[in-house]
Amino acid sequence: MITKYYSNKDEIYNTYDKDDLGFTYSKEETTFKVWAPAASQVLLKLYSTGSYQEDGATVLSIKQMKKDDATGVWSKTIQGDLHGVYYTYLIQNGEKISETQDVYSKATGVNSARSMVVDLERTNPEGWENDKHILVDEQTKAIIWEIHVRDFSSSNTSGVSKAHRGTYLAFTETDTKVPYTQQKTCLSYLKDLGITHVQLNPVFDFGSVNEATGVEYNWGYDPVNYNVPEGSYSTDPYNGEVRIKEFKQMVQALHNAGIGVVMDVVYNHMYSGDDSCFEKTVPNYYFRKQGSRYLNSSGCGNVTASEKVMFRKFMIDSVKYWAEEYHIDGFRFDLMACHDYETMNLIREELDKIDKRILMYGEPWTADNGDNGISGEDCCSKQNAKKLSSRIGMFNDDMRNGIKGGSDDDTKGYIQGSNYDTYKVLAGMLGASSDTFGRWAKRPSQCITYASAHDNLTLWDKLLKSNWKKNFNTTDDRIIEQNKLSAAFVMISLGVPFMLAGEEFARTKFGEHNSYKSPDNINSIDWTRAIGYKELVDYYKGLIAIRKKMPLLTDSSEEAVHKTYMTYNGKVIAGTMANIDGGDDEYKYMAIVVNNTGEKCPFELKSKYELPNRWYVIVDHDSASGEAMREFDNRMEIRPYSALVIVDADSYDRIHNVKEKLLIPNNEC
Ligand code: CA
Repeated sequence: MITKYYSNKDEIYNTYDKDDLGFTYSKEETTFKVWAPAASQVLLKLYSTGSYQEDGATVLSIKQMKKDDATGVWSKTIQGDLHGVYYTYLIQNGEKISETQDVYSKATGVNSARSMVVDLERTNPEGWENDKHILVDEQTKAIIWEIHVRDFSSSNTSGVSKAHRGTYLAFTETDTKVPYTQQKTCLSYLKDLGITHVQLNPVFDFGSVNEATGVEYNWGYDPVNYNVPEGSYSTDPYNGEVRIKEFKQMVQALHNAGIGVVMDVVYNHMYSGDDSCFEKTVPNYYFRKQGSRYLNSSGCGNVTASEKVMFRKFMIDSVKYWAEEYHIDGFRFDLMACHDYETMNLIREELDKIDKRILMYGEPWTADNGDNGISGEDCCSKQNAKKLSSRIGMFNDDMRNGIKGGSDDDTKGYIQGSNYDTYKVLAGMLGASSDTFGRWAKRPSQCITYASAHDNLTLWDKLLKSNWKKNFNTTDDRIIEQNKLSAAFVMISLGVPFMLAGEEFARTKFGEHNSYKSPDNINSIDWTRAIGYKELVDYYKGLIAIRKKMPLLTDSSEEAVHKTYMTYNGKVIAGTMANIDGGDDEYKYMAIVVNNTGEKCPFELKSKYELPNRWYVIVDHDSASGEAMREFDNRMEIRPYSALVIVDADSYDRIHNVKEKLLIPNNEC
């Protein structure tokens, strides 16, 4: 139950703070409750099916609901076992009578029109009672891989059975391979890669794909029912129970593989304003409006009102429901600056009661600040990061742009040889938490570090465009080198690393920068690229493994910045990390050096601590194996177009129990 609100702007309506909106099911009876304070009449209509067809024949009954004036909640209890019964409300506001599904729907029939009563226990897959959240101690220990359910397996290169391609159940297939090869795909591939969490593009019920045919493609940033899984990813969208069970099977399979599940939640706008269950239930309440005009900071036709008591409550209830019922391990908030910071902090507080380690982060921007309807002081922008919990992260677009240049244009960033925005890279490497280089975050846990996401060109396509190349399958050295530098920056930085699925094997969308409704042949993961770009995959994999062995990189405290020393000489970036209080199984010193020029460059390592004399190279131009490849000879030069990661030899020898010094000759720095 939500007991605390920092603001109450609802002068007109009485509100409701209990947690039983929607239906409360038992085998003996089901009670329906809907908050509709402005309504003069509400009827409950029960159906035997969930689809529009044969309406007259499928109506079971229509019942009058009763209003509690103190709260504005209408309720009705029906005797009997209602599992599988579909329902709508007929709500009269003024002269207008609207038929709508339940705002608090947990299940629906095909294409969302009717809600369904569901006994959730019957949707639990075998072993669900033993399924546990996959969590990391601190947000900065997460390594996030962003994937669209359909893209994951829609291509026949996934090796997933035809019936499961593009569905939740594709995640449950183990030992999948690219046909006729030994290349692992999907879940078995992810286990090897070493990421800790997948972030799923929208998996709540959205409106842009016809569930009856499933033909269209869409990312799904157009919510219809927030608390219902999308039907087009299930094997039977007509039966409201199936998608719930299959969604849980997906979560269970990922959890069994040791991978956490982050949901991309889009509370900032809906598929439709006027036709949404929210507007039909309580007109002119849940959305920000100016007269009859919907404000549009979401850029998608309407923006919701997180500051209103009952939408705030809805967001909190919804997030809690996914975390508890579906064991979701993290939430990524789309266009988070459409929301007020009080709401986001309350969500953090409520999630903390379930588990403090549940991830929370979002996009710190809107599509149109001028049409947001809440002040710049109140919204979740980077400027207001200090008002938010330090465990609510924000995507660091500054570092993203500093690394590679503009997201869709042909401008260059540091990795393509430009030194114009290098300070943004330096600030980002310090988790946007350094007063010296630029700070908006309170701590590194607030900074999501990345170079690519579902929006915009893939990193590979961006590199091709900015280098004026046209071959999407190129193995051009320079492009591969630049990709490696980007990976090194993202993984060997403070903050929370994040990447678009397939970034590690040169994923291409053939130059399409906004593929939200492009066909599968643009969006699908082509798993054969994991073979063609194995060198890149191995490089990412190595960096991920190294990150996990250097606690300072995943330190979310404010002190982490002070143990890290960044230098930049106009060409080369060098960062030294001192973890001198670390345990015997941890590296004490690590340094990353990056050269974006075509020449060997000198550099200098600096630290406020005394630096060791002996170092080993564990990442160089060619490899990021994490194994000591050779001793670093202090000549302090770095090869062209390369990133170097070195660790102090004493720690390495101690950790790896090396009895004799490495005897590999020093022939290259
Ligand atoms: Ca849908």
